[in-house]
Amino acid sequence: MRKNFTTEAINLKNYPLNDNDNIVIMFSKTKGLIRAVAKGAKRPKSKLGARIQMFIANKLMLFEGKNLDTIAEAQSLNTFSKIRNDLDKLSYSMYIAEIINIFCSNQYNHNENSEEIYNLIFNAYDKISNAKSKEEILLSILKFQIKLMNILGWGIDFKMCSICQKEIKNDALFSFQQGSFLCKKCAVEDKNCIKIHDKIRDFMQTLSDVNFLQETKYDKLANIAVLKKCFLFMKKYIDNISHKKTKIFEVLEYVKK
Ligand SMILES: [Zn+2]
Repeated sequence: MRKNFTTEAINLKNYPLNDNDNIVIMFSKTKGLIRAVAKGAKRPKSKLGARIQMFIANKLMLFEGKNLDTIAEAQSLNTFSKIRNDLDKLSYSMYIAEIINIFCSNQYNHNENSEEIYNLIFNAYDKISNAKSKEEILLSILKFQIKLMNILGWGIDFKMCSICQKEIKNDALFSFQQGSFLCKKCAVEDKNCIKIHDKIRDFMQTLSDVNFLQETKYDKLANIAVLKKCFLFMKKYIDNISHKKTKIFEVLEYVKK
C-alpha cells in the first residue's frame, strides 16, 4: 500500500506532465523541496488546478512515490493574491522561487531546515503581497536574501574582517573572491573588492540580527536607491556562491524593451 503524508507547502513552479496532469514543485514544511503530480489539474473545472498556481500555500495530503509524490487533497492556506497584480511583486516573488529551486533542490528528504525556510518564504510572500510601496517590497526581499543565507550557512559577517578577524571600524571592503568583508589592510592585494559604506553595512547587519517580521530603526529610513543597491549586492553574492546567474530580472529587462 502506498504511504501517505500531510504537510504544508508553497508552490514554486508548475509544468504540464500530459494532457490532464501537472507537476508541481513546492517547498514543504516537513520535507523541503518536493515534486508532486496534480492529477486532472489541467481539466477546466478542476479545483486542484486553482490550488497549484504559483506562490499559493496549501495544506496537503500526498501519496508518497518513488520519484514523484501525488497530491490527494489540497486546501489553500494563503493565496498571496496581491502578488499577481503587480509586476514588481511578481518578479521579486519569482526571484525567491528561483533561488529556493537552486539552493534547495538537493535537499529532498533532508529536512533539518525545512520548517525555518518554509516560514521564511511564507512570511516573505505575505509581506510582498501586502506591501504598500516599492520600499516595502525591496525591504522584504532584502531581508529574505540575508536570512536565507544565514539559514543555509552562507551568512555574511558584516562587522569582521575575515582575514585578520578584527572588527572593521570603517572603510570596509567586500571581496567577491573571498565572499566576505575585509579591512583596508587585508584587502590590499584583492583586486575584486568593492567599497561598502559603513552605514549600509550596519543596516544589513541589523537586518541579519532581527527576526524577519521584526521592525528595525532603518525600516522607515531606507530609500529605494539604498535598498536597490543592497538587493543587487546580495543578488551578486548569492549568484556567486550558487555559480548560477538568476535569470528572472534579465527576462524582465527583455520584456520591457
Ligand atoms: Zn583585516
